[in-house]
Amino acid sequence: MSSFNVAKFGGTSVANFEAMSRCAAIIENNPNTKLVVSSACSGVTNLLVELANGVPDQQQRNQVLSQIADIHEAVLGKLEDATNTAAEIYKILDTVTSLAEAASIQATDKLTDHLVACGELMSTHLLAQLMRERGINAQRFDIRQVLRTDNNFGQAEPNVEQTAQLAQQNLLPLCQDFVVVTQGFIGSDEHGNTTTLGRGGSDYSAALIAEAVKAEGLEIWTDVPGIYTTDPRIAEKASPIPEISFSEASEMANFGAKILHPSTLVPALRHDIPVFVGSSKEPEKGGTWIRHQVQSSPLFRALALRCNQTMVTLHSANMFHAYGFLAKVFEILAKHKVSVDLITTSEISVSLTLDQTGTSGGAPQLPSAAREELEALCTVEVEHNLCLVALIGNNMSESRGYAKQVFGTLEDFNLRMICYGASPHNLCFLLHESVSRQAIQKLHQELFEK
Ligand code: ADP
Ligand code: ASP
Ligand code: MG
Repeated sequence: MSSFNVAKFGGTSVANFEAMSRCAAIIENNPNTKLVVSSACSGVTNLLVELANGVPDQQQRNQVLSQIADIHEAVLGKLEDATNTAAEIYKILDTVTSLAEAASIQATDKLTDHLVACGELMSTHLLAQLMRERGINAQRFDIRQVLRTDNNFGQAEPNVEQTAQLAQQNLLPLCQDFVVVTQGFIGSDEHGNTTTLGRGGSDYSAALIAEAVKAEGLEIWTDVPGIYTTDPRIAEKASPIPEISFSEASEMANFGAKILHPSTLVPALRHDIPVFVGSSKEPEKGGTWIRHQVQSSPLFRALALRCNQTMVTLHSANMFHAYGFLAKVFEILAKHKVSVDLITTSEISVSLTLDQTGTSGGAPQLPSAAREELEALCTVEVEHNLCLVALIGNNMSESRGYAKQVFGTLEDFNLRMICYGASPHNLCFLLHESVSRQAIQKLHQELFEK
């Protein structure tokens, strides 16, 4: 195991010169930090996604381009010696301009990844130079040389073995002499095409890189001092959790707690790397440790919210006491690469929700070809504008009585689907987007504030 830490800084942590300076101070404070993974400056990925989805009007496109340029120029303006860094930034901005024009003619997932990757490619130039100017021996590194993925653009899957091998060869030796600054979110396929790991993917990158170099610890620096009992933007009285188990935190990430990308903890868990989550704005406040062994395992730990859900309900009298019906349904879904998230069944119908989409965003869609094939088998109904609320805790499948408390609190809400029992760590349900925050607030009050 390497005796060093990987530190990841999210978009708000590298939003501007002052924020980046706070990151540099955190890095200076811990000489064990040898690898820094950075997101794009706050807001930049959203602007790049907008361009990647195609902005046909040139004037409008130029407006977005100048917003992106402004964010980076503001940091350049505060550097002592910006000459080389500025040249690198302007080169990337030129690429953004020409790719945005191409996307306005025809948007593709491959083009999107190439374009949105530019955010992280730029922020790491700025952060590395800012660190050097403070006296840190920093070196920027292009992670595409190491983080190998498949070519599922927008939501690429990493090749863990190849990534580890390349990291040992190309990245680890650099960490002996430098504090290496590299990009989260992006990778490359075997042909050298740029790929992305899906929105919020920098957390996942940092964990993959930590695994690949066998790091001792992983720090996720964000805009809140740790993982809270629910998103503090939804419930004012949400409180930070000092220590949480890998399984609980994985459930939270998977069920939409934006604080961690859903796959983040998979590599950390594989290599038993402890993860710390803290605020780069207020590092003195401490944060959350995610570990294997924790002191307490409460029945209720947290509430998570995941919006933009698509529910598909399939209905057929042929399902009644028949075998093989679900197999046919899943065969069709698999053929069209539709990933299913939750599922509930009754005698003659089955409801399922579709997994999230990749970098270009939006609600997951049931492809029309899949729908047509399903319609040959049963009736198909698709509902949008739903959110999934998950209650995360421990020993939930073995505990009595709490369902009454949970559903009693929610008696005024129309619940569209409930999933419970498959995991001892969660109970979740779907409801309409318009009432989802209210449901979280009520439940938080009842379960966490009393
Ligand atoms: P970064 O850019 O650093 O990756 P994100 O915006 O992706 O930051 O994630 C941090 C945000 O996650 C917080 O500002 C908060 O609103 C949200 N969040 C959602 N659920 C939680 C939770 N349980 N605890 C803390 N923050 C949460
Ligand atoms: N910059 C990317 C995004 O905004 C990745 C990340 O920040 O984690 O989705
Ligand atoms: Mg994030």
